[in-house]
Amino acid sequence: MGNLIVDGKRTDGRGPLDLRPLRIEVGTIKNAAGSSYIEHGKNKIYVAVYGPKDSHRFGTSLERAVIRCRYHMSPFSTEERKSPQPSRREIEISKVIRNALEPSLILDEFPKTLLDVFIEVLQSDGGSRSASITAASVALADAGIPMRDLVQAVAVGKVDGTLVVDLNDKEDKEGEVDLPVAFMLNENMITLLQMDGKLTVDEFKEAVKLAREAAVKIKEKQKEALGRKYFGMVDEK
Ligand code: ADP
Repeated sequence: MGNLIVDGKRTDGRGPLDLRPLRIEVGTIKNAAGSSYIEHGKNKIYVAVYGPKDSHRFGTSLERAVIRCRYHMSPFSTEERKSPQPSRREIEISKVIRNALEPSLILDEFPKTLLDVFIEVLQSDGGSRSASITAASVALADAGIPMRDLVQAVAVGKVDGTLVVDLNDKEDKEGEVDLPVAFMLNENMITLLQMDGKLTVDEFKEAVKLAREAAVKIKEKQKEALGRKYFGMVDEK
């Protein structure tokens, strides 16, 4: 502690409220019903959505599509080689990502079907679950799944006693608090909230407010990415 913020600058030169560079592309995997690619800081993540496809397997619902989600980190996504086997962490993250996306989707239009969301992290840099949610929501829109709103996520936290937005890997590991939050802004809903560390109630409220402000910016990037594919729009910058 004590070296993550120096003269108001973070380890990567950002101010406390700055997001890392964010780039989203839509339609990156042609075989998939919907797909996306995100670079959020040094995170590089592909998402492919397959389905809804008819299924009579055990666990399929008569009322609605069942969504399955697989978050996977490639063996070369971290400094130390990561085992290709799904870890307990990846199984948990797959589940929280599914829970974060599901409230946004209108799944009762597709009874007796399965919807698969595959998330492959090629390079990870802290906040990979948040970047995965942001990218997966765009891929689901690309697949034409009706939705109430796009979902976007960001990790806020506390490092060297200061609240900061969009933690990088070092801040995630060495900071005091990591708080990933996902939003459905139109519905004023939070669909994921996890906290590692401790905040006072006031700090917590401020952190969620900062995350919400970041989500507004991330949603713009999601909409621009979809606009480029579907409306031939060109970015302003
Ligand atoms: P998130 O990526 O959502 O912040 P965590 O807080 O669990 O998820 O992990 C923080 C970061 O730690 C990851 O983004 C990744 O860079 C790194 N990490 C996670 N699992 C491993 C692993 N098995 N080996 C090395 N680094 C890892």
